[in-house]
Amino acid sequence: MTAEGGPGPARSLYLHIPFCTQRCHYCDFAIQVGGPDLQGRYLQALLEELRWLGEARVAAPLESVFLGGGTPSLLRPELLERLLQAVVAGFRLAPQAEVTIEANPEGVTSERVRLWRGLGINRVSLGVQSLDDSTLSWLGRSHDAGQAERALAALRQGGMAALSCDLIYAVPGQDAATFERGLRRVLEFQPEHVSCYELTVEPGTPLARGVASGRSQSPQVEAFLEQRRLAVAVLGEAGLRRYEVSNYARPGCESRHNLVYWQGGAYLAAGSGAHGFLGPIEAAGLGFEGKGVALRYWHFRNAASYARSVADGSLGVRGHEWLTPEDLALERLACGLRLTTGVELQTPAQWRTAAHLQGLGLLEVAGGRVRATSNGVDVLDRLTLELAAV
Ligand code: SF4
Repeated sequence: MTAEGGPGPARSLYLHIPFCTQRCHYCDFAIQVGGPDLQGRYLQALLEELRWLGEARVAAPLESVFLGGGTPSLLRPELLERLLQAVVAGFRLAPQAEVTIEANPEGVTSERVRLWRGLGINRVSLGVQSLDDSTLSWLGRSHDAGQAERALAALRQGGMAALSCDLIYAVPGQDAATFERGLRRVLEFQPEHVSCYELTVEPGTPLARGVASGRSQSPQVEAFLEQRRLAVAVLGEAGLRRYEVSNYARPGCESRHNLVYWQGGAYLAAGSGAHGFLGPIEAAGLGFEGKGVALRYWHFRNAASYARSVADGSLGVRGHEWLTPEDLALERLACGLRLTTGVELQTPAQWRTAAHLQGLGLLEVAGGRVRATSNGVDVLDRLTLELAAV
């Protein structure tokens, strides 16, 4: 954080790889189905953006690099190698930097794990989602439970340093017992980190259309509450502490990259649909005009439009906005309340509201910070609104 309250220099880099084999029913991410022929052209654009970013920024060594998607594990090995070589050449990597790749089970083989480790990747975020075949099919996933288990085994046997598993709960038709069975099975592979996300119906997705037409059931609040409590208990028992609303880790294995987002830190981003967040000095260094305490910028969501924009010299950036100190304070409050370390409040009026919410059993106050209780986590948006209104 700077003296003016904005974020300091960016020490994290997000790279978006948009390719997926099919669109899962609930997904509204910036993805590109199929398109192996587009991979080379897309990577060319991404390398061009990285080259420019590496030259233009005042270099602070990167503490984390995150290849997200989409399905980065679908990137052809030679392209992945070129991409990571470009990151190392253009940016300094801090010793022990966290380098994460998101992967789907069908793309994980022993050979791939070996390749990833050889390229310096030390963390894999695996989209398991469920170990129940009918749930996976309901979600429109392209893998089955057997593939997910084989991927988990390959990652562990291949010596990947850190393994994170994504799971989805409150899926209609997946009862609490099925969810718990899957969770316990995943834990047998001793992941360092688990993310448990509730199923949400995002506008414009196949799931939203299914719910609107009555073909699909929507997630039920009772299932959501029951399965989330189950996740906290089962994961806690296994030594994975909840440190963010949806994220659980063994001590010291929290996602350093994602903590930068939640703690309001700066990060660079490249690739279609990617959002970056910078302090004013770095933003000006990258040519953004205007004023504020922080800047958010974003890229074209469509991979082909992104690649065209880079080729035209606009570097794929579709838009940006400057944040005022008030905007930034609100974002920090909303994100900070998601963390079990909580957040510092800024005004006496906020502290008075916090005392009221503490009396309702929704907030805890400790060490000059406030954090949501387990009941408070269930009404997090409401807490944020109450504290932001004063
Ligand atoms: S694999 Fe992930 S990014 Fe791709 S469509 Fe499914 S949910 Fe979306």
